[in-house]
Amino acid sequence: MSISASQPPSQHHDGAPAEGTVTDRLVEANERYAAAFRDPGMDARPVLKVAVVACMDARLDLHAALGLELGDCHTIRNAGGVVTDDTIRSLTISQRALGTRSVVLIHHTGCGLLGLTEDFRHDLEAEVGQRPSWAVESFKDLDSDVRQSMQRVRTSPFLLHTDDVRGFVFDVTTGLLREVAGRA
Ligand SMILES: [Zn+2]
Repeated sequence: MSISASQPPSQHHDGAPAEGTVTDRLVEANERYAAAFRDPGMDARPVLKVAVVACMDARLDLHAALGLELGDCHTIRNAGGVVTDDTIRSLTISQRALGTRSVVLIHHTGCGLLGLTEDFRHDLEAEVGQRPSWAVESFKDLDSDVRQSMQRVRTSPFLLHTDDVRGFVFDVTTGLLREVAGRA
């Protein structure tokens, strides 16, 4: 059994076949972006001194949802917005090399990880003959997973600032954030 999602052919929204690949379309959009772009003259240190860890979900527009502007924050995204070793790596660099102090964690309703289990990993191993080194980090309860993520950040020995760590669930149907009370 293959565990990859089925991939419909690339199409425009009107159903007509697309010319070129989706990446070609992105490159064209970038040419228009760059034509209007002005060098903001910023350095790499986020203006608001905050790092946001969030799911990669396509329905979560972090900058729009949080009123963020270019240069305001670090955004660290992965499947689930999980605090993995690599997330800690990015947060450590964010705080120690680039001056951030606050951490915001965002999970969301309807997350793709809610339906998965570690069976995903076992099926993957059976299919490709190699065991992945990473955990799927699936979860069944959004709030408890947000709390676990907050705890992983707060207890990391590598981070300089763990006093302002807050976790939220973003509702993809209303656009609203709901804070999850953490055990500080
Ligand atoms: Zn998600």
